[in-house]
Amino acid sequence: MTHRVHTDGTKVRPVRVQHRLESAVAGVRGPVRFHAPLKEYTSFHIGGPADVLVEPADVEDIVRLAKQTREQKLPIFVLGGTNVLVRDKGIRGVVVNLARLRAIKEEPGAVLYAEGGVGMPTLIGQAIRRSLAGLEWAAGIPGTVAGCVVMNAGTRLGEMKDAVKAVRIVSPKGAVIDCPAEAIEFRYRRATLPPGVVVGVWLQLRAGVRSDIEKVVKDYLHYRRDTQPLALPSAGCVFKNPLNDSAGRVVEAAGLKGTSVGDAQVSTKHANFIVNQGHASAADVLSLIKKVRARIAQKTGIKLELELNIVGEA
Ligand SMILES: Cc1cc2nc3c(=O)[nH]c(=O)nc-3n(C[C@H](O)[C@H](O)[C@H](O)COP(=O)(O)OP(=O)(O)OC[C@H]3O[C@@H](n4cnc5c(N)ncnc54)[C@H](O)[C@@H]3O)c2cc1C
Repeated sequence: MTHRVHTDGTKVRPVRVQHRLESAVAGVRGPVRFHAPLKEYTSFHIGGPADVLVEPADVEDIVRLAKQTREQKLPIFVLGGTNVLVRDKGIRGVVVNLARLRAIKEEPGAVLYAEGGVGMPTLIGQAIRRSLAGLEWAAGIPGTVAGCVVMNAGTRLGEMKDAVKAVRIVSPKGAVIDCPAEAIEFRYRRATLPPGVVVGVWLQLRAGVRSDIEKVVKDYLHYRRDTQPLALPSAGCVFKNPLNDSAGRVVEAAGLKGTSVGDAQVSTKHANFIVNQGHASAADVLSLIKKVRARIAQKTGIKLELELNIVGEA
């Protein structure tokens, strides 16, 4: 059987699949884009197309989407885009981007509620303006607040679990559930939450002095600018730190800085970053990761685990 193909070489979905995709997103008020190139939505600037990409207008839209997607037996993947490598053939089913869920409100007791799509830099800016301390550790993390909960994002100064009070989730059946932090299992760069789309996060902060908070944030941003390759597309750290060590140190000590496959390169500035020097494919990044892991295992016996999320079809 022959398949029709798009200009990017990926297969055109059969009519019955296209019909299910259309039913899944019917009536959604936010923008819907079929065959959307995900390289435009990832910090790596890499990735094949989503069958359909949706930017829900609000939580109600997500409830509708969850129910309809379930009816059509299609998967949903939420993409913030800053810690993922989307493979070259893209993601099947419905990809959701929360770019339109951006509201932030302050609640009594130094609590901020942020909708899932709020970017960490924006949230930190708001915390500073309100003289609320407790997020300084996250300065420079580019992901959404929801993505940061799911990943239990962190730095050497702190991690998400220190600030999360509760999360709001739309379940796969379309129910809106508020889940307290105590019901979430936070581990190193991963949290176990009830299944669904995280649409909001309550953060427990504390009253502070604006200039003090601002100083910690600025100093940490400077430190990051000096030590990380922020001028080139990347997805942050590729590997988790091995016990009592740093993945960057291990990769650097093995002499792997600057190693490349195609346009994917182990950063010469920070060895735990892989940068896209122009037109790297996901296949290039994956083969570079394989090379680095094999070399480290051979030299040190350490099996580097991925922090990066690898998704989609090869
Ligand atoms: C330059 C740079 C620096 C970085 N520095 C750091 C750092 O210091 N520390 C750190 O921890 N990370 C860092 N990162 C990685 C990244 O920003 C974090 O891991 C962040 O938490 C990912 O958020 P995201 O919204 O982009 O989610 P994504 O990377 O898109 O997704 C991560 C996972 O969470 C899931 N997910 C995302 N949103 C939702 C949602 N709303 N509901 C349900 N599931 C969801 C996705 O499906 C995926 O499984 C860096 C990245 C870059 C590019």
